[in-house]
Amino acid sequence: MIKIPIQEIDQLLQENYGIQAKIKELPGYEDLNYIIDYKNSRSILKITVNPDAQLSVMPQVRVLNVLNKTDNLRGLIPEITSTLNGEKTLEWEYDGTKLIVRILSFLEGNFMGEKSPLMSFFAMLGEFMGKLDNTLSKINEPLFRQLHLEWDLANFLENEELCQYIKNPYNRTLVEYFFLQYREIVTPAYKNLRKSLIHNDINDWNVLAADNKVAGLIDFGDMVHTATINELAIALAYAMMKQDDPLAVAYELIKGYHSVFPLKEEELDILYYLSASRLCTTIVMAAKNASNDPNNEYFQISAQPAWDVLHKWIRISPLKARKVFHKACGLTVPMHTKSKKELLIERNKYLPSSLSVSYNEPLGMTGSALQYMYDDEGDTYLDCVNNIPHVGYCHPRVVKAGQKQMARLNTNTRYLYESLNEYAKKLLSKFPDRLSKVLFVNSGSAATDLAIRLARNHTGKDDFIVLDHAYHGNVSTAIGLSPYKFNHKGGSGKPYNTHIAPIPDTYRGIYRTPDVGTRPCGRPDESMGNPIDIGIKYADEIDNVIAENELETKLAGFIAESIPGCGGQIMLPKNYLGEAYKKIRALGGVCIADEVQTGFGRIGEKFWGFELYDVVPDIVILGKPMGNGHPMGAVVFTDEIAESFENGLEFFSSFGGNPVSCEIGLAVLEAIENDGLQENAKTTGRYLLDEFFKIQEENNAEGKGIIGDVRGSGLFMGIEIVKDLETREPDPETASRTVNDMKKEHILLSTDGPEENVIKFKPPLCFTMDNARELLKKLRSVLGA
Ligand code: PMP
Repeated sequence: MIKIPIQEIDQLLQENYGIQAKIKELPGYEDLNYIIDYKNSRSILKITVNPDAQLSVMPQVRVLNVLNKTDNLRGLIPEITSTLNGEKTLEWEYDGTKLIVRILSFLEGNFMGEKSPLMSFFAMLGEFMGKLDNTLSKINEPLFRQLHLEWDLANFLENEELCQYIKNPYNRTLVEYFFLQYREIVTPAYKNLRKSLIHNDINDWNVLAADNKVAGLIDFGDMVHTATINELAIALAYAMMKQDDPLAVAYELIKGYHSVFPLKEEELDILYYLSASRLCTTIVMAAKNASNDPNNEYFQISAQPAWDVLHKWIRISPLKARKVFHKACGLTVPMHTKSKKELLIERNKYLPSSLSVSYNEPLGMTGSALQYMYDDEGDTYLDCVNNIPHVGYCHPRVVKAGQKQMARLNTNTRYLYESLNEYAKKLLSKFPDRLSKVLFVNSGSAATDLAIRLARNHTGKDDFIVLDHAYHGNVSTAIGLSPYKFNHKGGSGKPYNTHIAPIPDTYRGIYRTPDVGTRPCGRPDESMGNPIDIGIKYADEIDNVIAENELETKLAGFIAESIPGCGGQIMLPKNYLGEAYKKIRALGGVCIADEVQTGFGRIGEKFWGFELYDVVPDIVILGKPMGNGHPMGAVVFTDEIAESFENGLEFFSSFGGNPVSCEIGLAVLEAIENDGLQENAKTTGRYLLDEFFKIQEENNAEGKGIIGDVRGSGLFMGIEIVKDLETREPDPETASRTVNDMKKEHILLSTDGPEENVIKFKPPLCFTMDNARELLKKLRSVLGA
């Protein structure tokens, strides 16, 4: 950067402006800036060094002149002092460098970033901006149409690659999510937006306030011809910083702007995403600068206010924001969707009511983002229960992977393509070596069906032992292995070849740990220390099932979830699976682990649930989280089982393992790794489990005593609600009421277990510590009530 001695500046001022002033250099980014005090007035001397920036100085000066002649703007925009020759700018050559010089009036006031204004300020700022943009919209300066600025929101997507500089994986995914929304929602709308000249940088260090009124706007160096609404989007992004209620700020700002320079519907429709885009631009630029200059703390902290707003912004439903923006303009959002009541009536006309809906008052959903769901009224819910959007709803890299492949090729496994092999290899790398083959299907149920077929084919036998209250899927074979279905309301009872072993539930099962309320959680490492090994006692029950049903020669296998979900989120006692597997294998049966709910890092400690118990199954069933919502399932098995299946009867699934699914599956595995989701499940899960125990203790100490048990691993937990701690009598009504009351607090939970008295918790794995604290606060309040 060029450095000019003050004496030289002094001489320049005397010769060209006829003034002798006190001169002080200001820190500058590109231009050289000086405060000059002359008689009783203060001005800013600006010297532009960069030749590209010099091109726009003259057009800028002409714009400032027009603005200064406009009523209501005069005095709030820097005025330019003429040289002795009557020129607004001065060309100066110093030390061989061509410079452009001008003097601007100094505007008094506090920067918006220095002192947070009161809410009423924002309506005035909006009005001021309306006047400004109205005037600018009538100016034609061709140069501003030619500029290509990285800070112009029209070019937002060009900054996407800078996301790589964001270190925190959750934050990086959040910013990438907004890039995805821009591409999906803003890009198609962009060509229909009105365009005009805008200031393009109405930020908290360019707006001046005095007595809570607008006192000025400075720095017209980023002006560009672009979508007019970008002006408001940018101002909004900064105005919301350090404010508790971003939408209240938006309402005032938009109201003021619209009253002077009316906004259009199509502008209000995308403003939510454009404001987020500006926050993201600030963030990625700072991240890039921080990575270039790691010791410069300024870059690390400069984006913090933008992060704070962005974390609030994702929690505001786009619909709610749109409603507020419209209301500020005296408009209402046109609703084309049907009411919930209409949807439900229509649904029941075409679909049987066996397809149930959650909650006493069902929810209608219109959108989702990572761990949040947006309903049809504009409310946001923190999702604590849906385990299918494993890496987060609309995860940007998963969506992109699917979209990209869908646009290129989707076919089936009868052809060769790389992604099938690549995905199979990557998925199998997550398993112990013994589990070395995989077949792809489209659901957990289809995976169960195939697993049963493989086991029967391998053993030449027919019968299965299942755990009581288990659920393994909706196809006939799976229903036949699911006491949760065949033994419950409307069920047709146990098939002849299915045999039920007691569920090793150490709280409610046939063998229990005694210390009500104080027993350690069902973590396998902590359920030791009992005088009798309760896991072995439960495993011995399998001998009884074998003997009673004469299974010695008929047993094809044993199937169990690694943490039975429908059974009530039951942590198996430590030695149970090991002992059970021995007994099954002794009779030539195969051991099947259903990892549909527990797999892919959810349980935190390990990638697969069975790893908690130091066993290796012969067959593993996968589903739900595999495709993050894209319908995928798989069966993973041993070489021996694969060999016996290769008997000439071919296996084919129309959709299983197709190129789109493989790309999505790969992106999910990569997201789990790159976003550190297993680790997050472990740390956030540990914290929550400990806090759930505290809630249990508080609750029981206060004599209410409704939390009988807390158990789980990682982000897979259950809280069992009882009427009485001694008798452990289940209390499904309180469990259901709690879930419905939590919904009113915008937290999604659900109940499970044979008695429907277990509150289940299994959120998307991007669930944060802040989310955990919010859940705990609301749960305490609902349970307390
Ligand atoms: N196994 C388990 C343990 C499950 O929880 C489920 C689904 N709830 C299934 C299998 C069946 O999966 P899907 O619904 O994809 O067919």
